[in-house]
Amino acid sequence: MADYDIYELEEIRKLVDGELPWTTVQQMMKNAKDTDRFDKWITILQERVPWDEYILLPLTPALYIVQKDSDRIVKCRCGHEFGDYRVNWKLSALIYVRDDQEKLSEVYKGLEQPDLKWMQLREYYCPGCGSQLEVEALPRGAPPDFEFLPDLDTFYGKWLQRPLPQTVEFKDMTAEVIRSWCS
Ligand SMILES: [Zn+2]
Repeated sequence: MADYDIYELEEIRKLVDGELPWTTVQQMMKNAKDTDRFDKWITILQERVPWDEYILLPLTPALYIVQKDSDRIVKCRCGHEFGDYRVNWKLSALIYVRDDQEKLSEVYKGLEQPDLKWMQLREYYCPGCGSQLEVEALPRGAPPDFEFLPDLDTFYGKWLQRPLPQTVEFKDMTAEVIRSWCS
């Protein structure tokens, strides 16, 4: 049994390093027995970060939703905090926009370049450690894509069978934050 456990931990470690976190969660959710794998996976991730807040769900290779006191916030592996997980973390990131030929040619070679009449490339960086967190190609003027807003209470209650201590209203609060900037 011990050998089997070590093997499985290695398998999970590979998942941590190889796959995007959300893809991994989706794969695990197809199989009810994978709740144990999920817990081991979180344990491995938790060992790798220098802070103590409990990881509820990884978002990207660098970002995690964590429980901080009674709040659920997005936190970078470096410790930088992006605030409530129901607000798109990109609003609090450093953003570099590649919207001209020169800036695009630094990352795109040859014919693959997106058409600048329609698209721009946005890069999001952590204000704490400078890591590149996400790159997205979007139509000019489009709001940042909110890729992943998980329903944590359903996830923990229904799938893990282990409801979180408090429930939080499940809604995208990004627009409210943007409105508050305008008033
Ligand atoms: Zn960071």
